[in-house]
Amino acid sequence: MRDDRREELATRLAAVRERIAAACAAAGRDPSEVALLAVTKTVPASDVAMLVDLGLTAFAENRAQEAGAKVAEVADLRPDATPRWHFVGGFQRNKAKAVARWADRVESVDSVRLADALDDAVRREQDAGGRADRLDVLLQYSVDGDPARHGVARDGLLPLAEHVASCAGLHLAGLMSVAPLGSDPDAAFADVAEAAAALHAAFPQASALSAGMSGDLEAAIRHGSGVVRVGTALVGERRLTSP
Ligand SMILES: *Cc1c(COP(=O)(O)O)cnc(C)c1O
Repeated sequence: MRDDRREELATRLAAVRERIAAACAAAGRDPSEVALLAVTKTVPASDVAMLVDLGLTAFAENRAQEAGAKVAEVADLRPDATPRWHFVGGFQRNKAKAVARWADRVESVDSVRLADALDDAVRREQDAGGRADRLDVLLQYSVDGDPARHGVARDGLLPLAEHVASCAGLHLAGLMSVAPLGSDPDAAFADVAEAAAALHAAFPQASALSAGMSGDLEAAIRHGSGVVRVGTALVGERRLTSP
């Protein structure tokens, strides 16, 4: 069982790396410019441990509280590894404390309220000796600006960046976006690239661009993404049974 899964993950990882390499070649980019973030929200810690063995170093989760247990489990399974953990989910302010415990980077900040809650939680965690570093933050940008969905619209982006940059517990690192369902990914990521460039021009430290998932990573790489967040293509459709 275990060996089968290990083999499956190795095969899937090779295929994903091949897609990234091909997309980079087509775009005239160096593959070392594109980091692979493994989205492990649907799989158990044992799978993450296997992905660590296969050389992956960055993982993403989308449940603020549940992820804490998985992070601890992976640390037990692979005590010598130092994976980086990203949070990519929507969350309420009352989950900020949980996120501040385990996350190295939060990719889904879209409001001043959330930024303040995270900043507060990180500084408490620092005071308590739970973490030494600041929390890396990506602003989640909404391509269509739909207020019903997650993400900050274009006109709110720079004001939010200004605020995050002023938070002592946070480090403004860049932009994240998801192409709207049913949209043309090239049009969406062209827009995302413009927003990322505007952010980077105003805040030189905000250089990261996280865009592209299993279904659209090629288009994202064409438009300059530096981080692709890949779940399904890497781990399959498996669903986490019980935590
Ligand atoms: C689940 C998720 C992904 C990965 O999506 P796949 O299509 O499974 O690759 C990427 N980004 C976010 C924000 C997600 O929630």
